[in-house]
Amino acid sequence: MNSKERVSTAMDHREPDRVPVMCQLSLGHYFLHAGGGAVEIWHDTAAFGDALLAMRRRYGFDGILVNLPGRDPRWRGQIASMEQRGRDTLVHWANGAVTTAPPDDNPHVRAAGGEIRDIFFCPHHPDQACTCRKPRPGLIWAARERHAIDLSRAVMVGDSPKDIAAARAAGVRLTVLVRTGNGAEAEKALSGRLDRPDHVAADLFAAVDWIIAHDPLCAP
Ligand SMILES: [Zn+2]
Repeated sequence: MNSKERVSTAMDHREPDRVPVMCQLSLGHYFLHAGGGAVEIWHDTAAFGDALLAMRRRYGFDGILVNLPGRDPRWRGQIASMEQRGRDTLVHWANGAVTTAPPDDNPHVRAAGGEIRDIFFCPHHPDQACTCRKPRPGLIWAARERHAIDLSRAVMVGDSPKDIAAARAAGVRLTVLVRTGNGAEAEKALSGRLDRPDHVAADLFAAVDWIIAHDPLCAP
């Protein structure tokens, strides 16, 4: 029985010769070992398919698990220029956005001068009583330490009551709840409460509009 027969037999609820091995690897692993390069594999459906097949040949597993986000088939035509900066490849797009593609990790996009500067997460279980799991303020304080953020001038945008509570506990000046993600549930939970957010916005874009219009610190 070859791999294809093994997988289709199992998917038909019949018994294959052995348990089929399915494998999904991190994209950074494809970039490093499949050939083709991060920018191609990330944006191009055919290059992504080739990378999956290369991984199957390399490790000999039976089936490939794919979660394939939508890709614009005309992506190549939208590139204004590419440059190498250190180990990263930068793609400058015609619309002004920039994709930074490290050789071994997911590319990320920077648009219109905005930038995700850092990511903080709590690695603990809820019963470990750490100081960083929201609604405790530890993650926000970690961001304050690392990037010298003045929380008395900061705005927190979140989609859960815990986001709002963590911001209040940390001393963030303004809180905005968005209705996207968990936000619709959160809005119900927080309505009428004293710890409700300063504003509820339809989405992140609307939140930014509100902040610019209502925050005196944003006055030109
Ligand atoms: Zn934690």
